[in-house]
Amino acid sequence: MPRQPIPANGLKKLLTAVDCWYRRHGRNLPWRIGPADRDAGRAPDPYLVWLSEVMLQQTTIPHATPYFEAFRKRWPTVQNLASASWEDVSAAWAGLGYYTRARNLHTCAKVVAEQGGFPQDAASLRALPGIGPYTAAAIASIAFDERIAPVDGNIERVVSRLHAIGSDGTEAGWRASKRVISACAQDMADALPNSQRAGDLAQALMDLGATICTPRNPNCLICPLSEFCEARAQGDPDRYPVKAEKKATPTRHGSAFVLGRGGQVLLIRRPPSGLLGGMMMPPTSGWSEAKPDDPLSEAPGGFAWDHVGEVRHVFTHFALKLAVYRAEAGSRVKIEGEWLTHEDALAALPTVGRKAVALGLGSMKGKR
Ligand code: SF4
Repeated sequence: MPRQPIPANGLKKLLTAVDCWYRRHGRNLPWRIGPADRDAGRAPDPYLVWLSEVMLQQTTIPHATPYFEAFRKRWPTVQNLASASWEDVSAAWAGLGYYTRARNLHTCAKVVAEQGGFPQDAASLRALPGIGPYTAAAIASIAFDERIAPVDGNIERVVSRLHAIGSDGTEAGWRASKRVISACAQDMADALPNSQRAGDLAQALMDLGATICTPRNPNCLICPLSEFCEARAQGDPDRYPVKAEKKATPTRHGSAFVLGRGGQVLLIRRPPSGLLGGMMMPPTSGWSEAKPDDPLSEAPGGFAWDHVGEVRHVFTHFALKLAVYRAEAGSRVKIEGEWLTHEDALAALPTVGRKAVALGLGSMKGKR
């Protein structure tokens, strides 16, 4: 795992090159205060930095941006979000995935509002609900210019290439490699001169990874790091970082029951903890690794269920295959849950539920 230390004067030159590049080519993002505005005295809003960081975990910028804009418009401050009902927050989050994050977001907003605002250092931020080491470092660095290095996937790739930090491809090897990458990123933050901001460095490295030092075919010719980059000097930057091989994703099976009634559809709210905790869903069976012998064994009773197809959804640790059944209820039927119009139901559902209900309602027009 070679790590070529960059001499102090070289590191200073590197940081200047990154800063100049960021000023000219940094991305314009709705939660970001660009360097020119920072120079003019505009400070980042820690609430918006936190919101964007939570939304961007496991999600792309194009997918997260409309959600970010909707949250900012509806709940412009952390106090507003803290006062919102869980039903409203979960419905607004539907489609962003990883629903524990929405639950933690809401809980964290209440704690922060109670405390009168966000703490301004990574160690204190880390104590808030749902804020891990990366998010704490990102908020501290971007919102408060603490000299701490957040290491996301983009920064990980840039720094691993800059220093040619490989691994043996095992889990243990990749964990060790990540520790070295984090230490190298922190060296850069520690070496910042007073004239440069830690938040700008973090966001510049994120942008470099997203736009130039891409996973495949990095554009070394226009990279501000090229004269310092060990992977480029070796001639094969694509080979870094050397991550552990991914294990095959197991599959679980279950059934979803889409019950209609005169232009409405039945949804239930799942229990607050566990996967999709607190989210609306159509009634479903439990999910198991073995395909159930009788997929209707847990169907709400008294209805004539038709099998309409299957949807597939990939969670972090497993893929789910749901057999989808559809039935129509009479107007007087009594059953636990909420009857929503098709439009409201689709808007309130997390992605997997939306796929199942859309299929059940026959509104997917052949696309799944
Ligand atoms: S020179 Fe190439 S490999 Fe090195 S950091 Fe820049 S884009 Fe990435």
